[in-house]
Amino acid sequence: MTKFNELGLKQSLLDAVTDLGFETPSEVQEKAIPILLEGETDLVALAQTGTGKTAAFGFPLIQKIDSDSRTTQGLILSPTRELCLQITNELKLYSKYEKNINVVAIYGGASITDQARQIKRGAQIIVATPGRMKDMISRGLVNITKIDYCILDEADEMLNMGFFEDIKDILSNTPDEKSTWLFSATMPKEVSIIAKKFMHSPKEITVGAKNSGASTVQHEYYQVSGRDRYPALKRLADTNPGIFSVVFCRTKRDTQRVAEMLIEDGYNAGALHGDLSQNQRDLVMNSFRKKQIQMLVATDVAARGIDVDNITHVINYQLPDEIETYTHRSGRTGRAGKSGISIVLVTRSETRKIRAIENKINQKFILKTIPTGMEICEIQLYHLANKIKDAEINEEVENYLPAINDVFAGIEREDLIKKIISAEFTRFHDYYNKSKDLNSPDRGERDERRERGGEIPTSGSVRYFINVGEKDDYDWMSLKDFIRDTAQLGQEDVFKVDVKESFSFFNTDASVTQQVLSTFTEFKVDGRFVNVEVSKNPGGGRRNSGGSSGGGRRTGGGGGRDRGRDRDSSGGRDRSKRRDSGSSSSQGGGGTFSGKRRTKKRNTDFF
Ligand code: ADP
Ligand code: MG
Repeated sequence: MTKFNELGLKQSLLDAVTDLGFETPSEVQEKAIPILLEGETDLVALAQTGTGKTAAFGFPLIQKIDSDSRTTQGLILSPTRELCLQITNELKLYSKYEKNINVVAIYGGASITDQARQIKRGAQIIVATPGRMKDMISRGLVNITKIDYCILDEADEMLNMGFFEDIKDILSNTPDEKSTWLFSATMPKEVSIIAKKFMHSPKEITVGAKNSGASTVQHEYYQVSGRDRYPALKRLADTNPGIFSVVFCRTKRDTQRVAEMLIEDGYNAGALHGDLSQNQRDLVMNSFRKKQIQMLVATDVAARGIDVDNITHVINYQLPDEIETYTHRSGRTGRAGKSGISIVLVTRSETRKIRAIENKINQKFILKTIPTGMEICEIQLYHLANKIKDAEINEEVENYLPAINDVFAGIEREDLIKKIISAEFTRFHDYYNKSKDLNSPDRGERDERRERGGEIPTSGSVRYFINVGEKDDYDWMSLKDFIRDTAQLGQEDVFKVDVKESFSFFNTDASVTQQVLSTFTEFKVDGRFVNVEVSKNPGGGRRNSGGSSGGGRRTGGGGGRDRGRDRDSSGGRDRSKRRDSGSSSSQGGGGTFSGKRRTKKRNTDFF
């Protein structure tokens, strides 16, 4: 495997690489860096989102800049302000051991005079959005007539966004003898036109999809009716308490609306779209980076190029018009060697689009079912149990313990656990008890109905619970491998792996159930028991469409509760919000339940 120090980078840059924690160069870096360092050449590099293109052009550029001269020598054009800032920050990190290298970001929505002032102080490298750049050129605030390097980053997206004329204008202000480096995820016609028109026999590199970030993404789709999109989204959030996601909508209006509903329902959500002021967008992005926002609802344009690592789910609330756009969306997850999940909510008539995307991305989608209320209850229960188990003991409770112990006096441990769990479960259960199956019925799989409860099925697929999860550093891929290897199953035997924080679910065919269960009997990893049980819920397994969630109505407890109050108190994540709603709060654990506020008219048909 090639190492960074074999690419021709000077020591100070290698030191920066080390500080960044990059161990080995990505494929596009391995290919592009030596070519760019070797001589002066034009380059077209095609590589998917998340493959490390910034460093592929950033390091060679910095090495080639003459830091003794204050002249602007390098211009990077990128489609959005967010991306522009991101690249600027990256370049600053790359050049941390260089003396006198100035990188300035130029983008719309911020003071042009401030930016002009920064340029005036001397900027060897300018990172700009095409619109603002053109503006500054026409006002004589920048001089790019002496640049040696021009980089078109995310070229396909710049052209998608209609920057063709601006780019042409900007390039006409640059010298002919410069080198142009074009980086793009895809090569649509417009990009090849740019390449033909403005580049001189460019070298070309293409990074296969195989090693790209995108292959670490699992693609899933759920079939729901149009008006169930929103409740389906909530259930996806409820089944993934640790979710950190971008939810894509098609229009600014839908983006704003979905974000508002989520916030009202108590989720940590935020909206990102072009109608917000720069200031608002910055605030949202900052909260998202800090994970104070778990669900960022965004338009394609606004989310373009967002480089936030560890996004667990990309959710296509609505499919985009262009398949290309889907690729961009799903590329927001599965970055930097992590795995991710890209989810699509489709109506029945849209399923053919799934096939079209599959052909394009060369990966299969997995058809999943929206969890029933009872499945969510099960997940939330395990979540709650783990939360109690892992709770840090607060010394403040010490004073109250004698009185509390009196209350619990005479109750056996087993009964006490039952009571604690029931106290929460009844609430969850009441909330989801009457919830309907949100999966669109027309799936042609109705007859694959499975008996529920207790018995281990002997045919069909079996859903299991396993007591390891994200906390143990598993993701769906590594857990799948672990189970498969441990139980000595075949390549495709383990499927529908859903990794939660401290536990997970997976499916196998019923024919291997005994093998799975016997493997994980008394099975220890690092001294800890790894426990596998057949889940009471079929989960991601296929189920009949009619009334399966109703079938889970097991207890009558809490029937007399005021439903409105229950909704409020069943909460959600945003605690301040919840307080605002003035609910009586028997909150406690499992705070991921989303309650719907009774004052909201528009959601009343959800459950
Ligand atoms: P692209 O422009 O291709 O979408 P980026 O340049 O934004 O990708 O890089 C994606 C992520 O991968 C960033 O978080 C970046 O820090 C990280 N990264 C880039 N190169 C490496 C590397 N060689 N090793 C580890 N992480 C890397
Ligand atoms: Mg990039």
